Amino acid sequence: MYLKSFDYVAPKSMEELLQVLKENPDARPIAGGQSLLPMLKLRIFDPGLLVDLMYIKELQQISLVGADEIHIGAMVKHSRVINAPEIRENVPILSSTAEHIADIQIRNRGTIGGSVCEADPSADYLPTLFVLDASVELQSLNGIRTVPIRQFIVGPLTTAIDEGEILTKVIVKRNTNNFAVEKYARRQADFAVASVTAICDVQSDGLIKDIRVAVGAQRNGPVRLEKLERAVVGKNRDNIDISEIAQSARDELDPLSDLHGSAEYRKDVTVNMLKRVLSQLILEGGRD
Ligand SMILES: Cc1cc2nc3c(=O)[nH]c(=O)nc-3n(C[C@H](O)[C@H](O)[C@H](O)COP(=O)(O)OP(=O)(O)OC[C@H]3O[C@@H](n4cnc5c(N)ncnc54)[C@H](O)[C@@H]3O)c2cc1C
Repeated sequence: MYLKSFDYVAPKSMEELLQVLKENPDARPIAGGQSLLPMLKLRIFDPGLLVDLMYIKELQQISLVGADEIHIGAMVKHSRVINAPEIRENVPILSSTAEHIADIQIRNRGTIGGSVCEADPSADYLPTLFVLDASVELQSLNGIRTVPIRQFIVGPLTTAIDEGEILTKVIVKRNTNNFAVEKYARRQADFAVASVTAICDVQSDGLIKDIRVAVGAQRNGPVRLEKLERAVVGKNRDNIDISEIAQSARDELDPLSDLHGSAEYRKDVTVNMLKRVLSQLILEGGRD
């Protein structure tokens, strides 16, 4: 279907951008356009005005802040998340996650801010940002606020962003612990049917100091498996039955059910992925 006609502006500064958004309540920001343009073609949205974020320099920056924070501008593309040394060296799980997104063309256009604002329940970044306890910075003419990612994602395709606000950056803390990113999709470049991401810190004596696990492709957005985490942390790997722990996480899952897979099927796939991820991180981690 052809796009409906709309007006277009490309502000050159943050001030100009925020002013345009304030004056035009029906305006919609466009980042890489990889999710928005298909939706405009399907006529799911009918914005009077598209506001291009491409020329706002602040949104392109990646910076190391203080001892352990990495601030990633909303307009940083997936391909840059994969390759930027600041991200690869300090949060390798995020670079590895971006490698799973779509194909090279989409990774060269799509942005981290666009993906987070889209809040697709099967998107790849979200489970990883959940295990990293990331937060996002939002800015409007009323000021700046920082919101934990788990509060920002309200539901499928729904976020806590207010009218006139823009997501300016994603903030993550340095984390170089062992990690795993697993995704199952029907074809290469598809969204996940099931996905698991996890970070784990196992000491050389087998003590599990920290573990964080999240699953994607869930009905209301990613889920942190907190019961599983509590069952494992502080224990020694020699006293853990990985298979039983992965099975018991089944109760915490609430997957989507659609033409790509029923909820039951997705639960089975996710539990199997959990077994693999936990074995890899807990049984093999921390060994010299
Ligand atoms: C064929 C195909 C396959 C794909 N496969 C995958 C996949 O496997 N995994 C995956 O994770 N993703 C996948 N995607 C989605 C892709 O990652 C997109 O890049 C991403 O979802 C949106 O990023 P964007 O920069 O293109 O945002 P846009 O499409 O420009 O915007 C998306 C939404 O966010 C809003 N928005 C954008 N930036 C901001 C901001 N800074 N502040 C406030 N609102 C903002 C827009 O108004 C819009 O509502 C796929 C997309 C396509 C077309």
